[in-house]
Amino acid sequence: MSPFVSSRRYEAPVIPGQPWSIPVRAATLDTTLPSLHEQARAVRDEVFGRRVFVRGVVEVSSHCRENCHYCAMRRDNHALTRYRLAADELAELIIHHRPAAITDIDIQAGEDPVAVREVVLPLVRELRRRTQLGITLCLGTLSPREYDQLRAAGGDYYVMKIETGDADHYQLIGAPGTLAERVAAIGYLAGQGWKVSSGLIVGLPGQTQAHVKQTLDLLAELPLAGCSVSPFVAGGQTPYGAAPNGDIEQTLNCVAWMRLRAPHWIIPAVSAMRLVSEDGYVRAFNAGANLATINLTPRAVRADYPIYKRDRIIMDEERVLSAIAGAGCKLSRVGMAEHLKNTLATGRVSRSSEAASRAFEAAHSDTRL
Ligand code: SF4
Repeated sequence: MSPFVSSRRYEAPVIPGQPWSIPVRAATLDTTLPSLHEQARAVRDEVFGRRVFVRGVVEVSSHCRENCHYCAMRRDNHALTRYRLAADELAELIIHHRPAAITDIDIQAGEDPVAVREVVLPLVRELRRRTQLGITLCLGTLSPREYDQLRAAGGDYYVMKIETGDADHYQLIGAPGTLAERVAAIGYLAGQGWKVSSGLIVGLPGQTQAHVKQTLDLLAELPLAGCSVSPFVAGGQTPYGAAPNGDIEQTLNCVAWMRLRAPHWIIPAVSAMRLVSEDGYVRAFNAGANLATINLTPRAVRADYPIYKRDRIIMDEERVLSAIAGAGCKLSRVGMAEHLKNTLATGRVSRSSEAASRAFEAAHSDTRL
C-alpha cells in the first residue's frame, strides 16, 4: 500500500519492501494514517520547534505565455481579464500595510517577462533597500539572465514546481517546456545561490500512483530547500475543467512523507487543501507543514488571478493565524530566508536528518509486521 492512497481505499495489501509503505495495521475505512503524520509532526517539531513561517503573497500579474491544461491562467483562456499591478503601489502595500506576522514576501505571477522587467525587478530592489523581508519569487521558467537579475536585485528563494516527475505525463498536462528543462532550471538556480523550492500536484488527470512515487523520488534528489504538494482543483475554462479534485488524504500523506524524507524542507500548507477539505489546511500542519501564506493581493484583482478557480479560498490573516493556533503551532520568530541562511550554515539540518531517517525506517519496518 502506498501512503498516497486515500485512507478510504484500504482494500489493497501492503507491498513488502516498498519504502512507500506506511504503518496502517489498524487502518479502517474513514481513518487516516496517524502514525505517519505524528512522526512527521515530531520531526518538524524537532527541526523547527513547532514554529511556522508566515509569508505574504502578492500576485502581481495574471498574464501568462504558457498554456498548462490544469490552470485557468493559461494563454488560451480568453475569458480571463488580465492585469499587471504597479510596483510602487505594491511596495507601499507591503512596506506599510502588511500584517505583523509576515517575515517574508512571495511575489507570484504567470509566466510574464514584461511583469518581471517592469514590476518585479523594481519591487524587489525597493523591498531589499527598505525592509528586512525575505523575498520569494514564483515567476515560472525564465532566462538565466532574468534569474541573475532577480538574484542581484535581492531575491532569496525561487519556487519552481515540476507538478509531475514523469516526462510523458508532464507533456500530457501541457506544463511549460519539458520536465528536463524544469529540472535544469532548478539546478541552475541552486547553483547561483538561490534557495529553491519545487512541488507537485496530486490528482492531476492521467496521474497514476507510480507517477506520484516517481515525482517524490525525483524531488528528493533535487537541490531543494523546500517543497509543496497541492491537491488538484479543476480550473474553469481549462481542458480539465470537469475533472475531480485531488484527494486530501493522499495530499497530506505526501506532506508527511516529505517531512520524513527531508526534515529541513520548508513545506507549506496551501489554500487548495482547504478548498477540497474544510480542515485540510490545519491538518497539513499536523502532518509536518511549517509555512503559511497570507494573501495580500488587492481585492480588486483577486478574482482575475484564478489559481485553482475563481471562488478559491483566500487565506487572509485571520484564517492563517487561526489555523496555526488550531494546529498547536506558533509563529516563527525568524523569517524563512533568514532561517535558511543560518541553518544551512551551521549544519543543524544534517543532525536532524539522521533522526528523521531513523523515524522513517521505524515506520517502514512497522509496516512489515
Ligand atoms: S500554471 Fe503557471 S505557467 Fe502554467 S498556465 Fe498557469 S500561470 Fe501559466
